[in-house]
Amino acid sequence: MTARENKVHVKAGDIVIAQDEAGHAAYVIESGRVEIMQTSANGETQHLGMRGPGAMVGEMAIIDHGPRSATVRAVEDSVLLEITREDFTRRLGDADPILQMAMHTVLTRFRDLMRRSRILHDLPPFPTAEELERDAIRQPDAIEAIRIANEFGAALHAGEIALHYQPIVNLADGRPVGFESLMRWDRPSKGPLSPSVFIPVIEDSGQIIEASDWVLSEALAALRRIDTGSGRPGDLFMSVNLSAREFTDDHFIDRLLRTVQASGVVPTRIHLEITERLLMVSPEAASAALARCRQAGLHIAIDDFGTGYSSLSYLHAFPIDTLKVDRVFVKDMLRNRNSMELIRSIVALGKNLDMDLIAEGIESAEEAAALRDMGCDMGQGYFFARPMPEDQATTFARENRTVNF
Ligand code: C2E
Ligand code: CA
Ligand code: CA
Repeated sequence: MTARENKVHVKAGDIVIAQDEAGHAAYVIESGRVEIMQTSANGETQHLGMRGPGAMVGEMAIIDHGPRSATVRAVEDSVLLEITREDFTRRLGDADPILQMAMHTVLTRFRDLMRRSRILHDLPPFPTAEELERDAIRQPDAIEAIRIANEFGAALHAGEIALHYQPIVNLADGRPVGFESLMRWDRPSKGPLSPSVFIPVIEDSGQIIEASDWVLSEALAALRRIDTGSGRPGDLFMSVNLSAREFTDDHFIDRLLRTVQASGVVPTRIHLEITERLLMVSPEAASAALARCRQAGLHIAIDDFGTGYSSLSYLHAFPIDTLKVDRVFVKDMLRNRNSMELIRSIVALGKNLDMDLIAEGIESAEEAAALRDMGCDMGQGYFFARPMPEDQATTFARENRTVNF
């Protein structure tokens, strides 16, 4: 067997899991086919079934160190995605508490059942091979998610994850006032994968924490280099996106504050973008984290504003500096009166609460002008600039051009 990035390549005839030996991982079959066999106490080997793409084998290995109850052998050259016990435990540890509790209960019962049936040598009847085949439901989304999560860890360590920086401009003159850092993953053989695809996956797997640690230190280091390279030290801010997972994790906030301190960047130049959903889902944890970040001088921006919960009461309750108007409203503000009025209300609300406003997704001069005339302070979107690599961001900051609209 050869393994790379948690992918295991097996040849026809290879044993993937050996009966009565301890296993350390379960496998999801990406391609190929395996056979499941069981040898009884009297030495008789029984064929239990075949499994193909989408099926999981050796699932109990992610739960306990006990001996495996069957042998799994490749009948064709196959590719398997490995899910180690450590990975599973981490995912479970990160799961919703109700899910954790239910999972533990089910696993305990199942283990107990297995143990008793082994003791009694009276295993429950196994389904037929045909039934197993029929039940091996293909789950393309789940498989894709496991594949992405497995590859992401390796990619982060291999330096395949990069940050691009999208300018945020002053709507009075179109000059840059800051950048938003956005993750980019250009896979060597498969091409780029959008963050809107891989971020939700790594949020679920818990890898977002490690990724965000990296994003933060990289974005701050880049800001220092942009400062020097553009000849405008101290001028621009850097915005970093955070997900619920890390924002409500005390250890993450500890590390974040240490990174900020070690970076030498003035904290008010660092903007943390969080979504309103995050505030609503875990208000206590979010409130504590926000208070700590605010006290350290960091700026807080609410991302995708207007798309989450409609309750506005939290705006008073949290220390928020900036509202980012979601691009869905900007996108059809010129065609749809409701979107226009909604933006007008958000701008008025922000102003009343003494917050800054940034409109996202501005793609035309007309949109930029309408937003400026409504009193929106800042804008971001393809009309001004797309997210760009650091060297181009440095040039953008240095040129500091005005834009007419
Ligand atoms: P977001 O935070 O709302 O980021 C803005 C997204 O809008 C970016 O997509 C950006 O490229 C895109 N955008 C900017 N201007 C325009 C425009 O004029 N028109 C259109 N149609 N789109 C525009 P991107 O880079 O694909 O990122 C997607 C999402 O992935 C982000 O949405 C954010 O939620 C998430 N994301 C990206 N990087 C990170 C990260 O480092 N950490 C976390 N937690 N999330 C990230
Ligand atoms: Ca954002
Ligand atoms: Ca956004």
